[in-house]
Amino acid sequence: MPKRVSKVKRIVLLGNPILRQVAEPVRRLDRRVKELVEEMVQSMESANGVGLAANQIGVPLRVCIAKHEGQYYVFINPEVMWASDEKHGDLEGCLSIPNVQAFVERSVEIRVMAYDQNGDRFEVEARGLFSRVLQHEIDHLDGKLIIDRAVEGGLYWVRTEKHNEEPVLIPTTPTEVEQAFLAMMNEDKHTSVKGKR
Ligand SMILES: [Zn+2]
Repeated sequence: MPKRVSKVKRIVLLGNPILRQVAEPVRRLDRRVKELVEEMVQSMESANGVGLAANQIGVPLRVCIAKHEGQYYVFINPEVMWASDEKHGDLEGCLSIPNVQAFVERSVEIRVMAYDQNGDRFEVEARGLFSRVLQHEIDHLDGKLIIDRAVEGGLYWVRTEKHNEEPVLIPTTPTEVEQAFLAMMNEDKHTSVKGKR
């Protein structure tokens, strides 16, 4: 028996242009897509996330997953059929933008149509957190991020200090966040050029 190989992929961070691309629809549900779903589930699990979009692991296809009440939902080519006018604001984080939180207004309720990994079409009605996670992930597939969605003055760096368990929120701006991640990415490139990885 071959050993079970880890399919955990590195999560792409802000600054990588793939996060700004509009992802392509899946045309054929082949082994590669099933493999992708498996990689996404494992990567999300290992990062303790509640949702993940394929472009967050470097694949520009319209596939996202979301965890709701301990269960994974796979959405291939998801479409929002309806979204409530009633909105609710809350803080959101993103695995691709660590240490940042954004206060984002989202529809309280949405209805989404998609295909699962077996190619079966399904619809879900999501409320509350599940609805928020789904809107966040579908945004990813359109190249939209929480730094674009944050309400005016609702974007923060999250700092945790050792002596204080409560994280501190420091107000910031989309431009500042983007520049900070770009600088980090360039630094990374610089160190890997020097060798040693
Ligand atoms: Zn995200």
